[in-house]
Amino acid sequence: MADMLHHHVDGRKVAGRAERWGDVTDPATGETIRRVPFAAADEVSEAIRAAAGAQPGWAAVTPQNRARVMFRFKALVEEHMGELAELVSREHGKTLSDARGSVARGLEVVEFACGVAQMLKGEFSENVGTGVDSYASRQPLGVVAGVTPFNFPAMVPMWMFPVAIACGNAFVLKPSEKTPSCALRLAQLLEEAGAHPGVLNVVNGDKVAVDALLADPVVQAVSFVGSTSVAEYVYRAGTANGKRVQALGGAKNHMVVMPDADLGQATDALMGAAFGSAGERCMAVSVAVAVGNAVGDALVERLKPRVEGLRIGPYNDPDAEMGPLVTREHRDRVKGYIDLGVEEGADLVVDGRGFSPQGYENGNFIGGSMFDRVTPDMRIYREEIFGPVLSVVRANDYEEALGLVNDHEYGNGAAIFTRDGDAARDFSTRAKIGMIGVNVPIPVPVAYHSFGGWKRSLFGDHHMHGPEGVRFYTRLKTVTERWPSGIRQGADYVMPVPH
Ligand code: NAD
Repeated sequence: MADMLHHHVDGRKVAGRAERWGDVTDPATGETIRRVPFAAADEVSEAIRAAAGAQPGWAAVTPQNRARVMFRFKALVEEHMGELAELVSREHGKTLSDARGSVARGLEVVEFACGVAQMLKGEFSENVGTGVDSYASRQPLGVVAGVTPFNFPAMVPMWMFPVAIACGNAFVLKPSEKTPSCALRLAQLLEEAGAHPGVLNVVNGDKVAVDALLADPVVQAVSFVGSTSVAEYVYRAGTANGKRVQALGGAKNHMVVMPDADLGQATDALMGAAFGSAGERCMAVSVAVAVGNAVGDALVERLKPRVEGLRIGPYNDPDAEMGPLVTREHRDRVKGYIDLGVEEGADLVVDGRGFSPQGYENGNFIGGSMFDRVTPDMRIYREEIFGPVLSVVRANDYEEALGLVNDHEYGNGAAIFTRDGDAARDFSTRAKIGMIGVNVPIPVPVAYHSFGGWKRSLFGDHHMHGPEGVRFYTRLKTVTERWPSGIRQGADYVMPVPH
């Protein structure tokens, strides 16, 4: 019997009045393990009102005391790391060690949020005029919302709410309906750490819930992470309603392998970056650009046995290097892309379509797959596949490789593997990409820097977490004050000039 999930509003589990429900499945077996309620617009509105009720009192808590809640939350997430990783893996299908890593990367943002008092302390200028001082401070926006994807059920929500809440906002989170349980548990832990009820609310649902968040005038800002088409929609609808929006979308991350690269290192990097988490990462490398045919041949020769030998199993198999895909529908979509690549004329070097481990025949498994001689006109090159499928593209020289990176519609991450400092520096400078790795395949910035792509991988002006996160979730206020107040200067009808 599948567990029935709930919402978390105003510090309480709320069963809701859902007429529509979704199935949450175990990707390894295909079995329905939980049912998730899809909130209607009025239920979302109740969560927004709870947040609006809690926010002024929360903003009145001093930044240092809000930080202390984050310190306790950090300790609780560490204490419950195993449980949280299990919640992630069970619904997503990724291996437990991978899930633990993702919770740890989310925890980094909580650690960053522990320093919020430092981030909010502002700037002060004495004597901007005679007897006049000026200071600038950042104040919370009020109620803000987050909408998150299935692939990082702990980390991506933790990119958002710890910073927003530490800054004095109240938050309404709408997690993915495919992987909703972790967010509910995080909300409980945050309250156990001392956050006031209503400061973090979780409403489950689908587009109906998202549209309700986008329409409500109380919601001041929306953070979104998901596919590009929905990111663009959320950005347009949210900004049309006067909200601040940061909407992070899909990706097609390239790794350029130069002729002087250490091919052993590049092969290891490609294996982890393309096939870790079954390729369901927005920073996964899905395109290897080999500079020169000799590099292409050597790379494919090294990669082929490794891709064929990938150990694939359910999340709790300690030997598994990757798990199944999240849903049957997504698995079929990825298989469809492999069919398409064959039709388009790419060379299918490793075909994972037939893979199905014994005892898990109803799971969403697919083997690692690799295409060689993929060209930029092919849909398997242009579109995000979001599965364990690596495309090798061959470029004649560095400029052609850089051109591929820059001409692609996505601009999340890109890496270059080389021993040549000139090439690396040129790539870092000229690539039209938000996050660059030099001999680092998945350059996800640490929490005190900010995460975000360029081009159609991000709509909006702010990247996530780090200093950009603080800017996104706060408004700047500048105060100009005269002390002593008693100096009379008479009415001044010209533009005030400091003197
Ligand atoms: P998705 O776009 O299907 O869903 C994301 C969220 O939007 C979910 O909460 C979902 O309920 C909601 N949603 C779905 N359709 C909607 C609609 N029509 N209107 C309003 N809301 C809607 O994405 P997903 O499949 O859950 O996640 C995978 C995608 O996320 C991939 O494209 C991946 O690249 C991207 N992603 C990007 C980043 C990044 O940082 N750029 C990080 C992780 C994932």
